[in-house]
Amino acid sequence: MPETPKESKLAEVSPKTRKVFDFIESSKSPLGAYDLLNDQNLRAIGFKAPTQIYRALKQLLELQLIHRVESLNAFVACCTEHEKGPSILAICDSCGQVQDIPAEDIAAQVTKEVVKKFPGLKELNIELKGVCEECTPESPEVRTATAS
Ligand SMILES: [Zn+2]
Ligand SMILES: [Zn+2]
Repeated sequence: MPETPKESKLAEVSPKTRKVFDFIESSKSPLGAYDLLNDQNLRAIGFKAPTQIYRALKQLLELQLIHRVESLNAFVACCTEHEKGPSILAICDSCGQVQDIPAEDIAAQVTKEVVKKFPGLKELNIELKGVCEECTPESPEVRTATAS
């Protein structure tokens, strides 16, 4: 069976860092560094200092296994449906879940426009606020409004 991109990325990290990823991936809502630091399971395997957590997060970010949600100062697992590069993070006001929406074309387009006026662009983060599908009431009006 061929390895998925996620599996081959995970093969590069230590078993301990993998536990950090597993915890972020299994969480329903984005996790901050302190949520990780206070987790009993991670403490039990030796994560005690913030620097250890930050090192693990840095590696996971570099491999793009996770994304930083800048506005929440928290982390979510990548959906792994897109290559390296910016993605669009949609934050639900109602349940707090963050969806990773792979939309490289849009991100590339935005980058192209932005660098005309702001050539020093280093990082592009697109974060959207709203209400996710699960939290959207089953009303046809809302459905059409959000679809357009
Ligand atoms: Zn992603
Ligand atoms: Zn929601």
